[in-house]
Amino acid sequence: MLKLPVCPYCNTVYRYKEVYLLKGSEYNCYHCKKKFRISRIGRIIPIIIIAAVLVGVNLFIFHTSKDLNLVPVVIIDVLGIMAAFVMFPLTVRFIPEKNDRR
Ligand SMILES: [Zn+2]
Repeated sequence: MLKLPVCPYCNTVYRYKEVYLLKGSEYNCYHCKKKFRISRIGRIIPIIIIAAVLVGVNLFIFHTSKDLNLVPVVIIDVLGIMAAFVMFPLTVRFIPEKNDRR
């Protein structure tokens, strides 16, 4: 599920940084020049997974630690959110344009 997107026409694999820098919802493949749509709906999945894990970890820490220190909790949360951002390019999918007649 988590892998870099490929061009739906020529199967060119896009690199992590290239996907990260893609803006907007449409893009012309640099290899075959055909247009595809950029789907980012999949990024909801790492957000949901990481949010669920963070809530669980936070609840565990709040219930188990007698002398509560918020610093490690905040660090864990920030790292989890960063992990979700790191995964974003791996959740992008390229969808062929239906009206493209070229
Ligand atoms: Zn292509």
